[in-house]
Amino acid sequence: MATFGTLSDRLTETFRNLRTKGKLTPADVDGTVREIRRALLDADVALPVVKDFTAKVRERALGDEVSKALNPAQQVVQIVNEELVAILGGQQRRLQFAKNPPTVIMLAGLQGSGKTTFAGKLAHRLEKEGHTPLLIAADLQRPNAVNQLQVVAERAGAAIYAPEPGNGVGDPVKVARDGVEVARRQQHDVVIIDTAGRLGVDADMMKQAADIRKATDPDEVLFVIDAMIGQDAVNTAKAFQDGVDFTGVVLSKLDGDARGGAALSVASVTGRPIIFASTGEGLDDLEAFHPDRMASRILD
Ligand code: GDP
Repeated sequence: MATFGTLSDRLTETFRNLRTKGKLTPADVDGTVREIRRALLDADVALPVVKDFTAKVRERALGDEVSKALNPAQQVVQIVNEELVAILGGQQRRLQFAKNPPTVIMLAGLQGSGKTTFAGKLAHRLEKEGHTPLLIAADLQRPNAVNQLQVVAERAGAAIYAPEPGNGVGDPVKVARDGVEVARRQQHDVVIIDTAGRLGVDADMMKQAADIRKATDPDEVLFVIDAMIGQDAVNTAKAFQDGVDFTGVVLSKLDGDARGGAALSVASVTGRPIIFASTGEGLDDLEAFHPDRMASRILD
């Protein structure tokens, strides 16, 4: 995964220097923490997250668990690993399914964040697991969006509910509600609702997403965020949290050369878990997100 390349290299270098020392002095710890801080900031991790992270690492690194360790440098690396897992959300969080189907999964996020692509990947994945998903085309903002979802559905071999021309066109809330009803009747056990985004945070878009949420009472609202947007990630995520509220995060385009800041900031700032990582344009380029594996990748 390209995303964490530079950050990973910087941290490896920091720890290589640390390993040349036997016992660690407070000055060694401070120097290391300062390097970690710079590496995280350069990777576009949000400042409050960096501050909190480095404060915790520093406090623990100056404490007994390091001074009494057989290998103090190794213990510091272990602490950084544990704290990285913590900011990435701690435990893995799986998708929640409804007791009474259909499970309703709504997608939200800016235009171009990767929602439609993710919708197809998720449908494909769920089908492989034996589910019978129905995709609902409730993005009526862009002329081509319904079409795009149709193409994605076809590739994934998934069923789709899209508005008929002249019937409900222009009312995404009705399309979403009707789609859930169709799923119930046709016994699809999961629905995935694709919604409209805009290029930037926008009050109308947020209200529409909130209205769709209210009308369909989703089991999951997944906020899809492009890992490439760097420093903007935190403000965008907060705006969606306030405007729609979401239950989980999907990081998209983690295959690109993003610096990793979005990935490392969003779970911590919103308190919502990252559930999936999207790593390409292919149907199979989707991974369940494991905080511990991601931390290991960064520190590898
Ligand atoms: P939407 O507007 O939120 O529905 O975004 P789209 O699903 O249309 O995605 C916008 C662009 O990003 C498209 O060109 C996708 O092919 C591309 N894209 C989406 N997800 C990924 C990903 O994980 N990796 C890469 N490299 N490209 C992606």
